[in-house]
Amino acid sequence: MIPNDKIAEIRERADIVEIISEYVSLTRAGANFKSVCPFHADSDPSFNVNPARQFFHCFGCGVSGDVFSFLQRIEGLQFVEAARRLADRYSIELPVHQVSNAARTARERENEERARRLHILESATQFFEDFLHAPNGAPGRDFLEKRHISMDAARRFRLGFAPDAWQDLIEHMAKQRISLKELIDVGLALPRKNASGGYDRFRNRLVFPILASAGHPIAFSARAMPGDDSGAKYINSPETREYTKGKVLFGLHQARVALSKHREGILVEGNFDVVAMSSAGFENVVAPLGTAFTADHAALLRRRVEKITVMFDGDRAGLTAAARSFLVLAKAGLAAYTAPLPPGEDPDSLLQTQGPEAVAALLKNPRGLLDEIIRSSAHASDGSAQDVARRVARLAAYLDALPTPMERDIYRQKIAASFQLDPSLVFRYLRTDTPPVPAASAAKASEPGTLEEREIIGLMLDVPELTPTIEEIGVLVYFHTEPLRKIANHLLYAKHSTSSEVANIMNQDDGTPEMRWFAQRALHRIYTNEDTGQQALRDVHARMQEQRMAQQVAEIDRQINRAKQQRDDMMVFSLLKKRAEIQKEMQEIRLAFDKTHFKH
Ligand SMILES: [Zn+2]
Repeated sequence: MIPNDKIAEIRERADIVEIISEYVSLTRAGANFKSVCPFHADSDPSFNVNPARQFFHCFGCGVSGDVFSFLQRIEGLQFVEAARRLADRYSIELPVHQVSNAARTARERENEERARRLHILESATQFFEDFLHAPNGAPGRDFLEKRHISMDAARRFRLGFAPDAWQDLIEHMAKQRISLKELIDVGLALPRKNASGGYDRFRNRLVFPILASAGHPIAFSARAMPGDDSGAKYINSPETREYTKGKVLFGLHQARVALSKHREGILVEGNFDVVAMSSAGFENVVAPLGTAFTADHAALLRRRVEKITVMFDGDRAGLTAAARSFLVLAKAGLAAYTAPLPPGEDPDSLLQTQGPEAVAALLKNPRGLLDEIIRSSAHASDGSAQDVARRVARLAAYLDALPTPMERDIYRQKIAASFQLDPSLVFRYLRTDTPPVPAASAAKASEPGTLEEREIIGLMLDVPELTPTIEEIGVLVYFHTEPLRKIANHLLYAKHSTSSEVANIMNQDDGTPEMRWFAQRALHRIYTNEDTGQQALRDVHARMQEQRMAQQVAEIDRQINRAKQQRDDMMVFSLLKKRAEIQKEMQEIRLAFDKTHFKH
């Protein structure tokens, strides 16, 4: 655990605007900074950063939090990891973590085992990397040079080379007290059949480490050297506890900043394409790893971009793969484009033969991916009624994936035009049944609780000097909305560490209506001085007291009725007296209120 004072120190020193602007381009808007949201498919800038109170809030998807939770969310880190990263950056020393054996919980053990596996994967990455740059790694470096991949890009992707030997990695790891069993567990070694011992999984191959979006290696993809046909072209790590192939995009870690900044990404088919593109200056490029593009992949991208350009081989297989990815991209709300390559080419080969300009030219004029799917289906048709009907029917799935009825209708027209059909025919027969997916509505925070509760919280935010008064008059007893009472309570006890506490509160119960309202209120300062604040506090307090008394009077009336039914005159009398006292008190409050308001 990191002590609270260290967390507070980090929060004081880390500038949220500085950190966030590394991922998105912020522009100033009054007291806040704005940008499109890196956490949902956003087209208007609904993401706000408040430097005074050191928090962020998105009106679109409702997320809010401080600098820690921003890093956690965008980099996929645990809290402690985010804190350590910030501490490093701002040179804040953290105490070394120590636990007694007895105090260890199963969860801590689990964390340690995971840390051990990640350590092994990191060591292996370094081993392959060192070998690539050592004298014996010359074949690997030659291979990269032939493919026009700069050493700079090789370092950025931490490319490595696996020696042409059976046990080099196993022996190297043994020196670091890493066992064969541990290597087998993380997919780096295989047990021998019919014998004891084991052997390295990757031999005489160019090694591409697969990094989690936070940047640590979790698996490997290894390519055979040119001319070596003894095995598959690519060998990948098996799925392990750290690595699920449908959930990781190759290159995402290196591309993450470019993706968030440009709000656009390029999807290619292979690892080599990603590295070659990056080496040529295209930084926002990712590839699925040995699988079709999945909904999990789309979710990883949706947080960062609105638009994806698919750059697959222009042959049939490439187009089929691109068409399949369209369904996933469209369902995730991402706009899908294609910059088809000449048949038989991939980005890597095109870069080698024609250079970056040729790729840039393709990317300059992307076409709608669905337009391209329709066009090529029409182009491939033999024109017979049966073939046309079959092809048009098959396009229904693509229309289904579109987010709005308008887009579906526009594409019905395009289908009619491409197949040279009467549009009414397409509109009549190409019906989709799924109801339109409601667009991610910018849910405006409905106002939770009562006006008075919200006013009190707003006052504590804007005029922290009032907090002692608020505590003294005990205004919290008038709160009925529990989540708002919690927020007010938190602010009350945080009176001395104002700005960072506001950000701290946002980290809790993120996304609830109360928290959304709180974040949106905190973006503004409505009361700008203590006097107007004091006046407002008196008013709200008076209203709250009045409401409470009105409730008491109503309750007494109920009791009076009951006492009357029971003919308990004494009780009726004493209740009426009590009622009169409360009403007198109410009148006094009302008078005092009027006096402050109508002085003249
Ligand atoms: Zn958002």
